[in-house]
Amino acid sequence: MSRIHLSKADVTEVEEAYVLDALRSGWIAPLGPHVEAFEGAIAERVGVSGALALSSGTAALHLALLDAGAGPGTYVPVSTLTFAATVNAILYTGAEPVLVDSQSGDGNVDVDLLVEAVDVLRGEGKTVPAVVPVDLFGRCVDYTTLEPALGEREVLIVEDAAEALGASHAGRGAGSFGRSAALSFNGNKIMTTSGGGMLLSDDEELIARARYLATQARQPVPWYEHLEVGYNYRMSNILAALGRGQLERLDEMIARRRAIRDLYEKHLSGVAGVRVLGRTGSDRDDDDNCWLTTIVVEGFEPGPTANGTVSDGVVAALNTADIEARHVWKPMHLQPVHGEQRAFLTGASERLFERGVTLPSGAGLSDDDVLRVIDALLAHLEDR
Ligand SMILES: *Cc1c(COP(=O)(O)O)cnc(C)c1O
Repeated sequence: MSRIHLSKADVTEVEEAYVLDALRSGWIAPLGPHVEAFEGAIAERVGVSGALALSSGTAALHLALLDAGAGPGTYVPVSTLTFAATVNAILYTGAEPVLVDSQSGDGNVDVDLLVEAVDVLRGEGKTVPAVVPVDLFGRCVDYTTLEPALGEREVLIVEDAAEALGASHAGRGAGSFGRSAALSFNGNKIMTTSGGGMLLSDDEELIARARYLATQARQPVPWYEHLEVGYNYRMSNILAALGRGQLERLDEMIARRRAIRDLYEKHLSGVAGVRVLGRTGSDRDDDDNCWLTTIVVEGFEPGPTANGTVSDGVVAALNTADIEARHVWKPMHLQPVHGEQRAFLTGASERLFERGVTLPSGAGLSDDDVLRVIDALLAHLEDR
């Protein structure tokens, strides 16, 4: 039996044809027509007017935060349950991240607590230019509540939609909320350019300035002239070609991930003490992109494993069956590198870390692969 991976890239002849075109066209180094076409296609898909293809989602977050006014002496509230890149990007600007806990239903940031964090910081006389909500595992934050609350307070939203391309909320695409948003096309995301990201915004000036900063802040003169410090953050033409191919297949890949989630739910919904994150009762997930299906094992006690958590036991048992499963992101306030940051906590994200497991969800998995995961999982839970 071969190993089942968590979220393997799914690439076909469609992508091959695009990349071959890029290679044969002579547009190798580094920018070229595929970059502009890819930007246009993503902007249209998400429903924004401006897009800038970049070397990573982290680069997109960094440029978005610089635009929003994050810098030394400012404070930026952010979801604690996220990948380190979100918080790292805040620190690159010199601003202080303020870590905000999750709601337990879907793991997304607790919107009330996020707004409270803004008010508490402001009450202390601190400058809060922006917040960074993260659309966790391909499910949008509740922007219907968050946008007006922050609008009243004149605090900008930088949407970390790295995991959420193709998801939507209230009829709007992930990546279209707030002043700007970041997408990631890293290897295991919903679609990939092997490595890459995109900055999105309806503000043309924001995109133009970010484009300039991402190109080493080079002045438009015949020689190399620089008035400020820039970055080497642009995406190459070859990777943009790969992205165009992936984007053509995005809906098909999302549909497959949704079918995989349905299959997991069908077999796990009857198991007491196990739930699919973000899919409870009336709180459906029809607008998610189903990037990673995550279960929360509430009703079982941990087995004897390294950290002694329930998720440790499940991940180890699946690994023994040659199945790659992972812990939910370890919250940033529990990370040695970020643990000293100020935080607004309820314990919800810590509990999700201890009891949550992301299951193999790649569009390339067969139903038999998924059933093998379910069998291994049920065997482990019956042992408990
Ligand atoms: C993947 C990811 C990023 C970073 O994207 P890269 O393209 O890997 O730099 C940022 N935030 C979240 C939530 C992510 O999952």
